[in-house]
Amino acid sequence: MSVPRLNLYDFTREQLRGQLVRWELNPVHVARLWNYLYIELAASLDAMPELPPKLRARLAAETRLGVLPTALETASSDGFTHKYLLALSDAEKIETVLMRFTGRVTACVSSQVGCAMGCVFCATGQMGYTRHLTPGEIVAQAVHVARTLKLSAPVGPTVGRAPAGSETDRRAVLRPGLHPQRLRNIVLMGMGEPLHNYDAVMTAIDILRDETGLALGAERITLSTVGVVPGILRLAQEMRPLHLAVSLHAATQAERATLVPAAKKWPLDELMAACRTYSETTGRRIFYEWTLIEGKNDSEAHARAVGELLRGLDAQVNLIPLNPTDGYAGAPTRSAAAKAFQHVLATEFKIPSTVRQRRGIDIAAGCGQLAVAESAG
Ligand code: SAH
Ligand code: SF4
Repeated sequence: MSVPRLNLYDFTREQLRGQLVRWELNPVHVARLWNYLYIELAASLDAMPELPPKLRARLAAETRLGVLPTALETASSDGFTHKYLLALSDAEKIETVLMRFTGRVTACVSSQVGCAMGCVFCATGQMGYTRHLTPGEIVAQAVHVARTLKLSAPVGPTVGRAPAGSETDRRAVLRPGLHPQRLRNIVLMGMGEPLHNYDAVMTAIDILRDETGLALGAERITLSTVGVVPGILRLAQEMRPLHLAVSLHAATQAERATLVPAAKKWPLDELMAACRTYSETTGRRIFYEWTLIEGKNDSEAHARAVGELLRGLDAQVNLIPLNPTDGYAGAPTRSAAAKAFQHVLATEFKIPSTVRQRRGIDIAAGCGQLAVAESAG
């Protein structure tokens, strides 16, 4: 059986330097290789012509570039959201979403194939857990989006649409927005629970942040967790530079446990204690996510309960009207109720909040809609 090849996207810059040393090559070449990987976004070894022959030979013999082929690409009708079904080397598939609104370009990346946490309203939870992603599989999603953006950079004013499939057509499809765009924001809010796959996710973040590569600033990386308490405490202890979002959805243990089975393992009081420790240690505000389900957790009384729960914490609440999934019958909160919820948080508790815009729902690319099924897309 052949030895599995090293995936170049799995390596931090430092690790790649170490690999060159192990190959008895001059580690200075890591700069050029890294540049090909993360600035030029080369999609194959052939697209890296200026490497020393000995390095090229090693790379060809012992490594692979873990580019993730697109199995399916879908664009929302408003053109702001693109969803990519990407194939992994073992034929598993994951979904990655490119969002372009309010002047921001964001990639929503997956951390696992499926998810073990089983939140009742989430399509990923409904499909169950298959496996963790490697650092390279997480990095490759960001590279995929960055490369797509690079290829879609307009070269001049484009009017109308070129024939389907042509490069110009790609540009037209990827609009709106005439400006060439660089990937600026990453949200770990795709498929999976990132703190369940802690080490791979942190290595991937280190690679994404590398200033000589994709150079995504800490302020532009957001990790969303269902509330894995040991993971939150470890983030605090390691002072990981990122934004943390915690999915709350309910302000009592009993209510939360019906929506989020993981709450049985990490009860609400322990979760809130961990959040407090995180904020105190890092000095960072936490975003608390609240999926608004009509008649379930969207009343003014619920808003008061979350206000009380977050009292004294540096908090912002992100309200996400429920997106439809096959396995859950609930309905999204209407916008008047969402506004009333916000009003209570703002006036009675001075807690800022936002209501997530419902984008990409027509292609099932909204929060919690990512799943890999025959019907994907
Ligand atoms: N596993 C992580 C990150 C992925 S989910 C987490 O749970 O936080 C990203 C966000 O989408 C979470 O806040 C999650 O609760 C929310 N979400 C899941 N399913 C949803 C749905 N059907 N409608 C709206 N939001 C949903
Ligand atoms: Fe997993 Fe997050 Fe979905 Fe819950 S909401 S099942 S933790 S991906």
